[in-house]
Parts: sequence; structure tokens; C-alpha cells
Amino acid sequence: MSIQIKQVSKKFGDFQALKPLDLTINKGEMVGLLGPSGSGKTTLLRIIAGLESADQGHILFSGKDVTNLHVRDRRVGFVFQHYALFRHMTVAENIAFGLDVLPKAQRPSKSQIKQQVTALLEKVQLEHLAQRYPGQLSGGQKQRIALARALAMQPRVLLLDEPFGALDAKVRKELRRWLRDLHDDLGFTSVFVTHDQEEALEVSDRVVVMSQGKIEQQATPQELYHQPASRFVYDFLGGVN
Ligand code: ADP
Repeated sequence: MSIQIKQVSKKFGDFQALKPLDLTINKGEMVGLLGPSGSGKTTLLRIIAGLESADQGHILFSGKDVTNLHVRDRRVGFVFQHYALFRHMTVAENIAFGLDVLPKAQRPSKSQIKQQVTALLEKVQLEHLAQRYPGQLSGGQKQRIALARALAMQPRVLLLDEPFGALDAKVRKELRRWLRDLHDDLGFTSVFVTHDQEEALEVSDRVVVMSQGKIEQQATPQELYHQPASRFVYDFLGGVN
């Protein structure tokens, strides 16, 4: 599914968190929103999800205007850095919860739920942890379960906000490769927020560099390295090219 952002802006009080901006994300693309803290990345992601409303502008999914559509009806899956799993529920129950929020017509029966939970755990390669509780899992395992729960909603789009931000460098590296493979296998359209240049450049088809509520540059990782559009982009990427 493609996503079109047209002249979307957002103010919090007097503070212009997003200046009117346009962005198109193509079907099947994995786009990284990269930029320093406070540049508006999360705000943009939340507006795409429908968790936050834009002051102006429109959001289109596959050409259809979803600007006024409730978050539940947008069919987006999200994973956040601290997207806490329910601690009193097993892994299987946490994922089943994701199935429960589907619109009534698509909600599976009890026996289907068991089957689907198993299938989702297979997708994230954690079948053996079904009966564990979140407190018994590592950080990386928890985020993979959070992703399985997001996938249970049969999203058309996957939105991730610093999904691996709380993990150590080695696990981060493993998980971002794994996420990229999963994205390709499932044929998703994904947008993820990160302030980590290496992360954005390694797994994105296209990187959108943001600064002070606007898009500084959008380009493939190679283009960004070889042709940074501004001093800001050059410096933010670490001045390597
Ligand atoms: P980023 O994800 O790039 O770090 P954010 O989108 O979270 O940036 O925030 C952009 C700016 O908007 C920040 O200065 C932040 O303090 C402000 N902001 C975000 N959400 C709110 C809110 N709910 N109320 C007031 N200010 C906010």
C-alpha cells in the first residue's frame, strides 16, 4: 500500500512541530525517518498512524483519503521502543490480544486464534516462547513479540518508532537485518523512525532526513552519502562521503 502525505503540518501550542510537508512512500518500500531529537519524526509517524491529527493537509493510503479515519480503521501495525507487552499475559495471550482488535467481520474464532498465534510466532521465530511471560524474555525477544502482535492486526502498513532503541548494539544490528527480511517476505510498506544514521542507511530503501519540522532531503542511502543536499545532512551523517 502506498502512503501519500500532502501538505501536512502540526503545531503544539505556538510551536510548529511540522511545517507543511509532502512525502510519498511507495508500496513495498521501507523508509527510514532520520533526524535529530525534536525534528518531528515521531509526530509525522503518529499522524500517519492516526494517533495524532494534523492541523492541515491530507493522508492518503493507496490513493484513498484516510485523514479522518480512526486509528483502528487505518489497519496500521505499530511497534514502539517502549511498546510494553502486558506483563500478566503469556506471549500467546499477548498476540491473541492483537487478533481481538480486528474488526468484527475479520475476528477469528477461538480455534482459529490458537492456529494464528502459532503462525505468528513462527514468523518471528519464537514458537518455543508461547507460554512464557514477558518478564522472562530478553529485550530483543520482547520486541519480536511486539512485532508479532502488530502483525496479528493484519496491517497494510507497519510503523515503527525507534523499535530497537532500548537494545544493545549487537542485538540492534541482528534485529534490523531480521526486520528487513521480514518486511521483504511479507511484502509490507514500512516506515520507521530512528536517530541512528547507521540503522537508517543500512536497511532503508529510502531515507528521509528531517530537521526542525521539515524534510531536508529524501534519497537512497547511496545518494545521501554521495550527494548530501545540505551542510546539515552532511554533518548529520557524520561528514563521511
Ligand atoms: P522527534 O521524533 O524527531 O524526536 P517529535 O515529533 O517527538 O520529534 O517532536 C517534535 C517537537 O514537537 C519536539 O520539540 C516536541 O517537544 C514537540 N512535541 C511533540 N509532541 C508534543 C505534544 N504532545 N505536546 C507538545 N509538544 C510536543
